Amino acid sequence: MWSYQHPHFYVHQLPALNDNYIYLIEAKDSDILAVIDPADASVVNQACASLDKPLTHILNTHHHWDHTDGNKPLKKRWHCTVIGAADDAERIPYIDIQVSENILLELDGLSIQVLDVKGHTLGHIAYVIDDALFCGDTLFGAGCGRLFEGSPEQMWQSLQKLAALPDNTQVYCAHEYTLPNLRFARDVDANNTELEARIHRDTQTRMKKNPTIPSSIGLEKTTNPFLRPLDDSFIHAYATEKHIDANALAVFTHLRESKNRW
Ligand code: ZN
Ligand code: FE
Repeated sequence: MWSYQHPHFYVHQLPALNDNYIYLIEAKDSDILAVIDPADASVVNQACASLDKPLTHILNTHHHWDHTDGNKPLKKRWHCTVIGAADDAERIPYIDIQVSENILLELDGLSIQVLDVKGHTLGHIAYVIDDALFCGDTLFGAGCGRLFEGSPEQMWQSLQKLAALPDNTQVYCAHEYTLPNLRFARDVDANNTELEARIHRDTQTRMKKNPTIPSSIGLEKTTNPFLRPLDDSFIHAYATEKHIDANALAVFTHLRESKNRW
C-alpha cells in the first residue's frame, strides 16, 4: 500500500489482480472512507483492517468486472453506499446513488466533481476531488483506454476534458500500464525529450517495484501520445508522416487504431 497526502484526504493505493490499482480515500476531517473501483474485496478489507476504519462508500468509474467485482461482498459486509453513473445504473452492482456530469457530490467533508468521460465504455465517469483525478480506464500513464463501446470522437472529447484540468492534478488511473504504453509512445513521438526523461524515470521506478501512478495532467499533456494531438506541431508532423488529415481527431483516431495493432 502506498499513501499520498492531499489537503483534505489521504489516497491509499492498493495493487490488485495483475495490474489494477484500487484507491481508498480517507478523509482527514470526517469518517469517510471511500473506495474507487474495488477490483477485489479482500484487498479492500485488508486495508480497512489496517486503517482500523469501516468502509463508507464505493465509487465506480465504469461497469467492467475488474472495477466492480468487490461491490457485492463489500456492500454485504459494510453496508456502504454505492455510487456510479446514471447512464450505466443497470450494470453497476448494488448502485444506490446515480450521478452524472457536473453533479457535485458532497460527502461529509469531501466535494466530489463528476465528469462524463465516455469512450472506453458508454457509462464511464471520472471523479475529481480537489487536486486528485480518478479516471478509471479513460486516461492511463502514457496511454488511454480501448474503445470497447464508444467512438473515437467520444474518447477524444473525454480526454480533452481531462487535459483541461490544472497541470498539477494527480492522475490516479486504474491500471499500471505505463511502461508498455511508453514503448508505443516512443515509437510515435521520437525526439520528445520530456518523453525520454519519463521513460528513464518510470523504468527506474518499476525496477524498484514502485508504481508510476499517480502521474499528473501536466506530464500526460507533454508525454502521452493520446494527448499529443493537443499540440499543432505534433498534429502536422504525425499527419504528414502517416498521410492523414492534419486535425486532432484524425490523428487521435489513427494513434488509437495503431496502438490496437501494435
Ligand atoms: Zn475497463
Ligand atoms: Fe480495467
